[in-house]
Parts: sequence; C-alpha cells; structure tokens
Amino acid sequence: MAELTQKVQITDTATEVSRFNFWVDKQPCWEKCHCPEMIKAECPSTLYQFLPCWEIEGTYCKLDDRGATGKDTSICEVCRVYKKYGNSEPIRIKLFGKGMDTQLKALENIAR
Ligand code: SF4
Repeated sequence: MAELTQKVQITDTATEVSRFNFWVDKQPCWEKCHCPEMIKAECPSTLYQFLPCWEIEGTYCKLDDRGATGKDTSICEVCRVYKKYGNSEPIRIKLFGKGMDTQLKALENIAR
C-alpha cells in the first residue's frame, strides 16, 4: 500500500512539473535547433519554459536583422518544432516584452 501511495505521489509530482514546463518529455527547441550557449542564455524560450516557444514574443528565431521585435510568428508555422508539438493549434503569442535584445541578433550578423 505504501508503495502504491509513493507511486501516486511521484505521478502527481510529474504532472505538477509538466504543468509548469511545456518541454517536459519533449525535445526543447534549443536542442532541436542546436542553439549555441550564448543564444540559450538570452532566449526567452529557455527562460520561460512554461510556454512553448511559438507563444513567446522575441525568441531568437522570430527576430530578423532588420530590428523586428519578434511578434511575427510566420516562421513558427513552418518550423519543425511547432509542427511536432503544436497540435496544429492556431499560434497566439501569450508572453510579451521578454524578448531578446534585437541588437544581439544584429551583432551576430555583423560578426559573420
Ligand atoms: S521558429 Fe518558432 S516554433 Fe520554431 S523554435 Fe523558433 S520560436 Fe519555436
């Protein structure tokens, strides 16, 4: 009986964790896209893991070198991460104002 109780508690804990971390049991976008450490440290998709990356404004891949703020999710619609985990649900940004500094993107492009 005690073993069963312990199993139920472990299951409850796993459910609780997955409720607060979208990426539990999934391959996170930063792994799937092989993002370098510098990007991982700054990208809001690693910092706010309770949402999938396509629901966060200003993730690294939503930025472009023309100073976009990262509201445009058209890149997500064709992305393999969204295709795998998005369940074909419409994309709607839910977290605003936490995006990467667009200057980082511009600096990286200059360094190429
Ligand atoms: S393009 Fe969109 S769905 Fe793909 S990894 Fe970037 S934020 Fe996520």
